[in-house]
Amino acid sequence: MSAAEKNIPATLIPGDGIGPEIVESVIEILDAVGAPFDWDRQLAGMAAVDATGNPLPAQTIESIHRTGLALKGPLTTPVGGGFKSINVTLRQEFGLYANLRPTHTIVPGGRFDKIDLVIVRENLEGYYAAMESYIPVGDDPHGIATGAGYNSRAECNRIVRFAFEYAVKNNRKKVTLVHKANILKLLTGLFLEEGRKVAKEYEGRVEVNERIVDACAMQLVIDPWQFDVIVTTNLFGDILSDLTAGLVGGLGMAPGANIGEKAAVFEAVHGSAPDIAGKNLANPLALLMAANMMLQHVGRQDLASRIEGAIEAVITTGEVRTRDLGGTAGTRELTAALKQKL
Ligand code: NAD
Repeated sequence: MSAAEKNIPATLIPGDGIGPEIVESVIEILDAVGAPFDWDRQLAGMAAVDATGNPLPAQTIESIHRTGLALKGPLTTPVGGGFKSINVTLRQEFGLYANLRPTHTIVPGGRFDKIDLVIVRENLEGYYAAMESYIPVGDDPHGIATGAGYNSRAECNRIVRFAFEYAVKNNRKKVTLVHKANILKLLTGLFLEEGRKVAKEYEGRVEVNERIVDACAMQLVIDPWQFDVIVTTNLFGDILSDLTAGLVGGLGMAPGANIGEKAAVFEAVHGSAPDIAGKNLANPLALLMAANMMLQHVGRQDLASRIEGAIEAVITTGEVRTRDLGGTAGTRELTAALKQKL
């Protein structure tokens, strides 16, 4: 491909753990279909700490401000201390308020055949605002841990509207508002209140229903086919979307997009999988599907469809699957098989 055709500037963050391996695989496939992205490679996470001492260098932030578009490998976040999650920081810096997580069955014939649903998760507020503190009890300074969250009316309105607009544009029929307003009457009650208000504007075009989050989790396992678009607050959306990923083959098959008004960041839902990093075992499909969402985002559904066709062709024959999908193929073997089917 000539350089002139690569005319969409985009930031590429290889990330930590399995990140560089799956990013390399995805770039190989994107190049093979002639994807139009002109990559600006930048560091974040532990890779950036090692190179610069800063988990999110200013240069990386500037790049995303410039391109408004990023493909990101998973980043390692130290648990219970260290630096704040880079993913959360990126969401806040770029106002990435909507987290879009589609789930559809690719490996046919299993218990959860023909699933096709999308979770829209509010990405900025709720309990992930992480306003945490300790209260001393006796001589234990950490005797009690507290955490507060918040939901704003404006953000509840915006995320539900995003879900309904998504439904209209993608020919989806139903939006389910998922909440816990029976217990968290204010925090998630406000979400439900705004949700119902927005839903009224779409009456006759998109069906709406409501589920309490715990009942929704059960229903997703018993009868996931009843769902089309689910919209919910931050923590619930995070948990439910891992559940739905599990229905269709696990985290190695789950892509996600973080969309805001000024930028969009595409990534796999899974983490950096340090247990299998550098071993040619990682499944690149979640990140590849995220790259597909990025192609759709820039209006190249044609290229996304070619890649989707290749994924289906390879996975349905069952000959070349990574270990997480019950196969023996490595990242590189799967990448080569995908390229042959493009
Ligand atoms: P993880 O998703 O990295 O791994 C969970 C399990 O799934 C592991 O057994 C892993 O081997 C397997 N797995 C994950 N992705 C896979 C793939 N593509 N192919 C095959 N197997 C795969 O979750 P974790 O172990 O809880 O987290 C590891 C690190 O990743 C932590 O530092 C966490 O904070 C971070 N994390 C980052 C993101 C992100 O950047 N978006 C998301 C979740 C977790």
